[in-house]
Amino acid sequence: MQGIMQDWPLTVDKILEHARLINPTREIVTRRVEGNIVRTTYADLYDQSKQVSNALKDTGIALGDRIATLGWNSARHMASWYGTMGIGAVLHTINPRLHPDQIAWIANHAEDKVLIFDKTFLPIVEAIKDKLETVKTFVIYADQDTMPVNSLGAVAFDMWIDGRSTTCEWGGFPETTACGLCYTSGTTGNPKGVLYSHRSNVLHTLVTMSKDAMGMGADDVVLPVVPMFHANAWGLALSCPATGANMVMPGAQMDGASIYELLDGEKVTITAAVPTVWLMLLQYLQENNLKLPHLKKVIIGGSAIPENILRAFEIDYEVDVVHAWGMTETSPLGTLGTLPPHLMNADIDTRMGQKLKQGRPPYGVELKVVNDEGEELPRDGKSSGKLLVRGAAIAAGYFKGDGGNVLDDNGFFDTGDVANIDEFGTMQITDRAKDVIKSGGEWISSIDIENIAVGHEKVANAAAIGIYHPKWDERPLLVIQPAEGQTPTKEEILASLEGKIAKWWTPDDVAFVEEIPLGATGKINKLALRETFKDYKLPTA
Ligand code: AMP
Repeated sequence: MQGIMQDWPLTVDKILEHARLINPTREIVTRRVEGNIVRTTYADLYDQSKQVSNALKDTGIALGDRIATLGWNSARHMASWYGTMGIGAVLHTINPRLHPDQIAWIANHAEDKVLIFDKTFLPIVEAIKDKLETVKTFVIYADQDTMPVNSLGAVAFDMWIDGRSTTCEWGGFPETTACGLCYTSGTTGNPKGVLYSHRSNVLHTLVTMSKDAMGMGADDVVLPVVPMFHANAWGLALSCPATGANMVMPGAQMDGASIYELLDGEKVTITAAVPTVWLMLLQYLQENNLKLPHLKKVIIGGSAIPENILRAFEIDYEVDVVHAWGMTETSPLGTLGTLPPHLMNADIDTRMGQKLKQGRPPYGVELKVVNDEGEELPRDGKSSGKLLVRGAAIAAGYFKGDGGNVLDDNGFFDTGDVANIDEFGTMQITDRAKDVIKSGGEWISSIDIENIAVGHEKVANAAAIGIYHPKWDERPLLVIQPAEGQTPTKEEILASLEGKIAKWWTPDDVAFVEEIPLGATGKINKLALRETFKDYKLPTA
């Protein structure tokens, strides 16, 4: 028997429609790349988004077409989002921190038709323009006065939408229609596209708004330092308008002083970023003897929280820390570290110990840990194994089928993380099975570095591993096994990488070993190598 309820497709355009009707005067405050701070409301954002839809339709964009952005967090970026998604086109956020060749590769793979970007990235776009096979329209986030000279025939965003109708039909397609595309380089091989649907984004939004998750309300002021190109700014680009919370967008400036100015000036109550950002803020606060009187909650994820950051926020500044774990593939929130009821009144060390773990899945996310045979391990807080995840906002595969089937027989996705789970569902990451390095919240491909290094005539084998770094969490160490009779130098090895990888991927140090350990199948045994170098101190640390 069928229920007798309305068919109300879960599409993200309804989120902004709701914000316009229920919280029309709540604001989005943006620090522009020019440095000035501008304010807009959800009602105005709605109109601007409709204008974006009309501009896109005039360039021939239709259902399923991909629109790329290379953008900082800003109100204009939000308008591009909703304007794209509302008409059933797909908003593809590109990570500007990738090597320009990788950006071109991703844009071609996604077959992006329009590229909308911040002025900061003009040199990148100019450099790759001849490699872009499908992009026909370039739009720069600028007005007539701030539009830079360019060789792309680009149009200024404000001029592009100015004077257009604010009426345009949104929705009208199935809720399973694709709405967002985000490539992850946190896997081996080429970056892979995670293709969010309207339904998955709406369900993720509903789940993450709840009290034990992000827990924001219409009276909150939320500063997403985490970029919109990282899985929808951890969903905040959707959950803030859904609740009516004010948004404060930091643009390109994420240093301690700039973030503090926004936190204090805008009376921010909730903020979210990777640990590296918080380290810079805490240093700035300490050096200038400042406090955080308005801030209630800081959401920290992307990498494990260092204990000094956790204790500084909780004890020195009385700000509630919510440790979050997730992936691009999980939309991205998978677990959140709000304290479970039985630990609310525990002593400080117990509470801090709990918060150092990655947290508990909200309703809508299923987690389990399994051994190498795929058998589920006990939820005892000790047994570590492969972390698997299942849910309505978890990827079922990658765009264009890249990477093949990624689900097991029961529909679980292997995260590549190694973890344990306790009897109350608290998950703790203990290792990483995937062969990548995470530095300041961004991925570095060990394999790309190794492939170039082994091309050097004096190198027999090469392995890049992540070594703990107090600011960036991990930095790459390149381990080299010299070719017979050769004695390459660190400088020679690093010079061979120059120009072939993004500069910030350059290993912080090179170590030479007689033999790089190999596993049974001849692959480098990274576990053994990480064990050998576990106490290694980088010269940059
Ligand atoms: P991304 O797809 O770039 O968001 O990266 C997801 C991966 O980052 C996860 O699979 C973990 O390896 C790592 N990660 C994310 N959050 C945390 C966390 N709180 N603690 C430890 N590792 C994390």
